[in-house]
Amino acid sequence: MAFDLNEYRRRAERFSEELSREYYLHLAGRRPELEIEPIYDEYADLFANAQVERLRRLAAAARGDDEKRRLRYLLQFAFDGLLGLETRSESAELAGLEASLEIDPGDGPVPYRAVPIEQAYEPEPDRRAALEEGRNAVLVERLNPLHRVALERAHALCRALGWPSYAAAYAELRGIDLEALARQATTFLEATEEAYAAIVDPQLQRTGMPPLGELRRADLPRFFRGADLDPVFPADRLVASLADTLAGLGIDLGRQINVHLDDESRRTKSSRAFCSTPRVPDEIYLVIAPTGGRDDYGTLFHEGGHVEHYANTDPGLAFEYRHLGDNSVTESFAFLLEHLIEDRDWLRHRLGVEDPEPAAAHTRAFKLVLVRRYAAKLAYELELHGDSAALAEMPGRYADLLTGALRIPWPGASWLADVDGGFYAACYLRGWALETRWRGALRDRFGPRWFASPEAGEWLRSVWSNGQRLDAAELLAETLGGELDFTVMATELVPPAG
Ligand SMILES: [Zn+2]
Repeated sequence: MAFDLNEYRRRAERFSEELSREYYLHLAGRRPELEIEPIYDEYADLFANAQVERLRRLAAAARGDDEKRRLRYLLQFAFDGLLGLETRSESAELAGLEASLEIDPGDGPVPYRAVPIEQAYEPEPDRRAALEEGRNAVLVERLNPLHRVALERAHALCRALGWPSYAAAYAELRGIDLEALARQATTFLEATEEAYAAIVDPQLQRTGMPPLGELRRADLPRFFRGADLDPVFPADRLVASLADTLAGLGIDLGRQINVHLDDESRRTKSSRAFCSTPRVPDEIYLVIAPTGGRDDYGTLFHEGGHVEHYANTDPGLAFEYRHLGDNSVTESFAFLLEHLIEDRDWLRHRLGVEDPEPAAAHTRAFKLVLVRRYAAKLAYELELHGDSAALAEMPGRYADLLTGALRIPWPGASWLADVDGGFYAACYLRGWALETRWRGALRDRFGPRWFASPEAGEWLRSVWSNGQRLDAAELLAETLGGELDFTVMATELVPPAG
């Protein structure tokens, strides 16, 4: 039977819609079970080996940038699906174990998944460390063997399809030179090396934490939370502050009929805000369970950025450009809104904070830790997924690279659990780089209070309408010009002396 590309696209879109809606219903607490197996079963033909090979041949032979790009996005969709199908029993077993295992720091059981929250709210450093030890033991004994089986199967699949490695496969599928990106990330690490402690240590001190060198990984969730900043970020202002911010940009959240704001309280609702996009741009969910605090605001604004990007995507674009493509683009808009919570003007004008300095300085330190962590993660993942990886050495490599970048003794136990599938770390890094460029342009054109300018909103909407037709580098070249790299971000985080 002849391969019908348009039929493939149509079914791929239906699959994306059903999967996304199923996740929404489950995570929003509207349905107790997450029933994705029947969806995968119904659409399994989309992810057959033969389909991946066929799409790869078509992509290689395609004429014209547009058709080539669409086929590459579709190929990544098919390959992600194939990997997902081939490792679904390990994924299901891991999810089941993560949801049911408990660890005991010495005073009674704590659910495995609740460890970071427990650490964030635990003032006692030794109990935070005991939680960490318990979690690492569970990883080594129960979870890592499953992670490892899934990893080795994914690596084998890449080789069976003719790629030298998983890294080579995703460099091609994403159209990202991962080695070049890793070199840029290393340059970023060097550029921020000297100022790192000077930026982070004062914030550690403010939050009652030991300095770098003494800080443990178990302390990070507590530091990131910034408990003393809770009054700056009250739960009852959370949704209103996002709505006010969008209103300042000329966007009336309440009247966006394609955006469903779900802030109802439900017993099994995810405590973390998320967005779900069954139909772009026609059916977008923004789901929240407001608790307040710096982290909650950061997450809601991040997800709000995704929501507005997708909700303003041109409905006339092809499925690939509305639903697939380079996620560095949507991450850049998520980071753009997320960054507002460290913007001094925004803190003053939108939250009425008298002294925005502690919140701004804390979030800047948080971000520097995060970006340095992802720079190290990318270097590590290139080794892990390279063609000569010796898996036995990888826990040590992971620990060394993360410890080196963060100056926090980093346990090797999460060498598999801390890996984002398909090099998503590259999307975050490129998203951060692109976000600094958006923000620079918005400031230049509309002033430091760009977030209160309907003209800035107008400009953003015109960029958002592109969906993910272009990748991050192409979109930057087409809108603002210039190369996508970390120099602007490094200069912003660590302004040159003098
Ligand atoms: Zn995101």
